[in-house]
Amino acid sequence: MNIIKLVIFMTNKELADIMFPNVKHDIEYYENLYPERNLKEGAVVSRFAPSPTGFVHMGSLLAAFIERKVPKQTGGVFFLRIEDTDGKRTVENGIGGIIADLKAFHIDIDEGVISETESKGEYGPYIQSERKEIYETYAKYLVEQGLAYPCFCTPEEIEEIRSVQEKKKDRIGYYGRWAKCKYLSNEERIERIKNGEKFIVRLNSPGNFDNKVVLNDLVRGRIEMPENDMDIVLIKSDGLPLYHFAHVIDDHLMRTTHVLRGEEWIPSTPCHLQLFKIFGWKAPKYAHLGLVMKIGEDGARRKLSKRKDPEAAVSFYHEKGIPVEAVKYYLMTIANSNFEAWWDQNKDKTYDDFTFDFKKMSLSGSLFDLEKLLNISKNYISTMKAEELYDELVTYTEEFDSEFHQILKNDKDYALKVLNIEREKKKPRKDYAMYSDIRKYSWYMFDELFEKEEKTYDFQNINDKDEIKNIVNEYFTNYYDENDDHETWFNKMKELAKKLGYADNMKDYKENPDNYKGNITDIATVIRVAITTQAQTPDLYEILQVLGKDSILKRIEKEYY
Ligand code: GLU
Repeated sequence: MNIIKLVIFMTNKELADIMFPNVKHDIEYYENLYPERNLKEGAVVSRFAPSPTGFVHMGSLLAAFIERKVPKQTGGVFFLRIEDTDGKRTVENGIGGIIADLKAFHIDIDEGVISETESKGEYGPYIQSERKEIYETYAKYLVEQGLAYPCFCTPEEIEEIRSVQEKKKDRIGYYGRWAKCKYLSNEERIERIKNGEKFIVRLNSPGNFDNKVVLNDLVRGRIEMPENDMDIVLIKSDGLPLYHFAHVIDDHLMRTTHVLRGEEWIPSTPCHLQLFKIFGWKAPKYAHLGLVMKIGEDGARRKLSKRKDPEAAVSFYHEKGIPVEAVKYYLMTIANSNFEAWWDQNKDKTYDDFTFDFKKMSLSGSLFDLEKLLNISKNYISTMKAEELYDELVTYTEEFDSEFHQILKNDKDYALKVLNIEREKKKPRKDYAMYSDIRKYSWYMFDELFEKEEKTYDFQNINDKDEIKNIVNEYFTNYYDENDDHETWFNKMKELAKKLGYADNMKDYKENPDNYKGNITDIATVIRVAITTQAQTPDLYEILQVLGKDSILKRIEKEYY
């Protein structure tokens, strides 16, 4: 018996040597090269592992945000690994784009890829295509153990197996009696390789489909699935691994403790658990995240799509000038359903102080609600000091609006005054959801923009041109004084209303509307629109104060309306 085993091992070894002529080390070498991490109990090691597609999708950003947060929370490590073994998903400068998106959202990495050409950390290489020799070493080990073999089947042969399986209504795949190359003798394998035949490397799965394996998912709890019995591909004909093998080898050697990934990977988990078991390694904890969904135009839930939804790309937030912090607060609300209540009670704290919990994640996928995100953003911008907002706006306009940028830079003091209208107050203005809204809602405060803008005036209730002129002339000739305080200013507005036959308060007006031409609001609206063109603006007194007499008089003299 022992002699037979020895003979098999010898031919396995011979086969392994001929399959992997370039492997220089054994697996012990790598086990020692990448030792257990010396971290405190409970520290989470987690990673973001995208393909180099050049950009980060909102769903991946959510994953990366959590993958960054949990190690921070536990004193662990977060690293970036690039999974480029599938050439189809690789684009030029694909790594740079991902790094830029992460940087834009201040998702910093402790280890991993930091540019197209550089990495940091002791557990690299962090780009899969640079780990070929490592994968080969572990595949070679499996061949030696009789747990992997070369497969010579052509795509046509695989297709043939599939069509027979379909006809017979059998499970589709390369397994059991269907796995032709599983039953070749080592002598034949060696012979065919020596003859130059191309091969891929398959797992010789020891699993039985009738057995069950259990995945204790951190988000979904216990999931029971049949054991894997597929002889899955470990290494493709180009020498690179498929996801399953790369995931197991990398996350073992990089000492990952938690794998967060999309729910589409749940069905493959039995195969991953089997690989961990074969090697005698501890599998990481898995958290499978639901897709990020949105309510479509037809009212039904659908996947947030890169093609249909501009808000799916993180570049959207950058281009619109939606503050990164607002997006991160929003992500936290969709990551954990209890965050909002916590935030309400802890207004002075940030999402960094909140403890994320996998169990509080939605199972059915998170619903992405741009309107809610913009509301968070409005609140966030409303709490910014004018100086802080100015700095952000200058940075934003430098890239996206050079004309406005120049205006802001030319007179910082004035820009600060404009930004400070109804700001740094108990009830600050909340109309800016993004930095690009600022020009949209306050262009009339800047003379250069006011001059050149195509203007439409909507005086609302008062349409008679002579009456409008009369109100404006009366006000600016006899009442307006830029040195008035708010109360005096308002009293004068009342006096003007009275003089011109308008009610100076709403109560009187409502009681006897027929006694008046209108009310004080109509008068204020005429002044507001004449100066700003807008019927809705922040506080008129503040606007007049900031604009100042010269600008105002210029606008009145020119009389654009
Ligand atoms: N590269 C895989 C993907 O993009 C990563 C899955 C994982 O995180 O393990 O789906």
